[in-house]
Amino acid sequence: MQKSIPVSEPALSGNEKQYVLDCLESNWISSNGKYIGAFEKGFADFCGVRHALSCANGTVALHLALLGLGIKPGDEVIVPTLTYVATANAVVYCGAKPVFVDSDPLTWNMAPAEVERAITPQTRAIIIVHIYGCPAEMDALLGIARRHGLYVIEDAAEAHGAEYDQKRVGSFGDVSTFSFYGNKIITTGEGGMVTTNDSTLAARMLQIKGQGMDPQRRYWFPIIGYNYRMTNIEAAIGLAQLEKIDWHIQRRIEIARRYQANLAGEKVSFQPEPAKGRNVYWMTSLVLDEGIGISRDELREKLAASGIETRPFFYPLHTLPMYAVDSTGKSFPVASRLSAQGINLPSYSSLEDSDIDFVCTAIQATLR
Ligand SMILES: *Cc1c(COP(=O)(O)O)cnc(C)c1O
Repeated sequence: MQKSIPVSEPALSGNEKQYVLDCLESNWISSNGKYIGAFEKGFADFCGVRHALSCANGTVALHLALLGLGIKPGDEVIVPTLTYVATANAVVYCGAKPVFVDSDPLTWNMAPAEVERAITPQTRAIIIVHIYGCPAEMDALLGIARRHGLYVIEDAAEAHGAEYDQKRVGSFGDVSTFSFYGNKIITTGEGGMVTTNDSTLAARMLQIKGQGMDPQRRYWFPIIGYNYRMTNIEAAIGLAQLEKIDWHIQRRIEIARRYQANLAGEKVSFQPEPAKGRNVYWMTSLVLDEGIGISRDELREKLAASGIETRPFFYPLHTLPMYAVDSTGKSFPVASRLSAQGINLPSYSSLEDSDIDFVCTAIQATLR
């Protein structure tokens, strides 16, 4: 029988079923219930921050973070061009303008020197994305933000548990965001989290995600809010996933190491790791050398024919129709090369070593 290896799938091998059943049997299926508080508390402890607020997904987590910081029309927010589209869209939801910067060849994350160059009098914040699980160069980026008085938001949707200087991502920014979509390191189906050490900011985001209701006065809505809440059922799955997060992370690191060892000497390069960082390898990602007689898409087709699913890297956001207008005349050579030559390999916690070896054999057969 033809093998079939997806690029990603959830591993629900812990208490997920038991906790979800508990929600159903106790009738607590909406956005109140004990799993929400337990998941938030556990996630805050995991990140090493004071506050974690659950929400409906990683995109609205970004929107909440920006609203909490007061980002408004006329403001500019610096974002990497090589990221998932939600990072920039959330800026637009606030009426503000995303300003794109190129990637650093050393981490594939936003290049600190490019960030510095993109700052204008309108700049209010920087969204630092830890792409594919690799922490960004936080020392340089935080230094720039401090010197220019800019807010820092970490988009850690792909990097639960990644570390920089032995601190977990999600604890560096004024506010940070996570996603628990089905293909992320841990999942709740759909879900997100914002983390912060700032109690005032946490209270503001709590009000915004609950339709703006005054916490002291029921059904009094002094501001425009949103319904961005997570359900108790989602949090129940999240708590069970969080109980095993060390295993999920360890396994993804092992998977990346096995791909790297098997493919050493091939015409590919893997995502580098910053000296002070721990990459948690949400997706093992490689970039094909140029001029080797086979294109990235040909490689993907060959692998697909062997039942191996892969993903192309994100298109740089400055090339998408709604963002291209503002980017004419600008060039982003590093992100453009990564995007054209990069693929994400099957990477999920329950992937077997024998499957990794099968994928590597197929890659070698294609490249040689
Ligand atoms: C997945 C992802 C998001 C959005 O998360 P959703 O839960 O899908 O809304 C945001 N930013 C990045 C970098 C992501 O990978």
